This record gives sequence, structure tokens and C-alpha cells, in this order.
Amino acid sequence: MTEAQAAEQKRVLLGEGLFTPTEPGEDGQIIATHCKSCGDYFFPRSFTCHNPECEERDVEDVALSGVGVVDTYSDMSYPPPPPYVVKKEDWVPTPVVSVRMPEGIHIIGMMDDCTPDEVSIGMQVQTVIRVLYTNKNGEELVGWKFRKV
Ligand SMILES: [Zn+2]
Repeated sequence: MTEAQAAEQKRVLLGEGLFTPTEPGEDGQIIATHCKSCGDYFFPRSFTCHNPECEERDVEDVALSGVGVVDTYSDMSYPPPPPYVVKKEDWVPTPVVSVRMPEGIHIIGMMDDCTPDEVSIGMQVQTVIRVLYTNKNGEELVGWKFRKV
């Protein structure tokens, strides 16, 4: 890749308004919906409260805590399905974790720079913003992962 091509490298977000900041390489936070009426949280964000017992449904967008605790995990030993673009021979087993945030909501994501045997239930992890992969158009897809604290 030439310098000019590198400068033209485009980045796209996994989705608008899902996390902050939007630049890869930094610690981040997931953006969720919080119902001010019943206190429930939802992710991805929602225009309404999904608690069937909630009557007011007064919702707001909030950035969740950056640090959460691994409740459970799995070893993704095969490449994820499309639209993820990765060659099977380039894939390394990657832990996928379900992280319980202090707000009580669980967020699922891949661990960053971590082998499956380095993950344990109860460990603290930090939300981070990373390039997840380069798509077939050559654009870097930016999303969240978790790193060890
Ligand atoms: Zn509610």
C-alpha cells in the first residue's frame, strides 16, 4: 500500500451511535438507552422502553461504564460469518465475552489481543474501540472489543 493509498483508507463504523469515541485505538464506552421511568437499559439503543411493565417509557441515551465484569465467555475458534472478512488460515482463536456492566446490562464482544486461556469469569475488562476487520471494499470497520484491565 502506498502512502497515498493509506491516506485514502476509509473507516466505517459498525453502526452510528453505538459507542464513543469513534476513533480506533482508544478506551471507549457503549452507548445504550436508559429508561428514566423504570431504570432498565437497552442495547442497541431504542426509541422506547421494552419493559412490558413500564408505563412512562421516558428514555434517554447514556454512555455505559467503560469497565465491566466477564460473566461468561466462549472460544471463537473459527472465523465469524460474513460480513466479517477474514481468511480462515489467518484466524486465531478469539475469546468472545459477555460482560456485565455496572448498570446491569450485558454487552457481548470479542477480546482484544487475548488468548482463550487468558480469560476467566469475574475478570474486569475495559471497553475499547478497535478496527474489527477490513471489508471487501477495503474499508476498515470500527467497533468495540474488550481488553484486560
Ligand atoms: Zn421503562
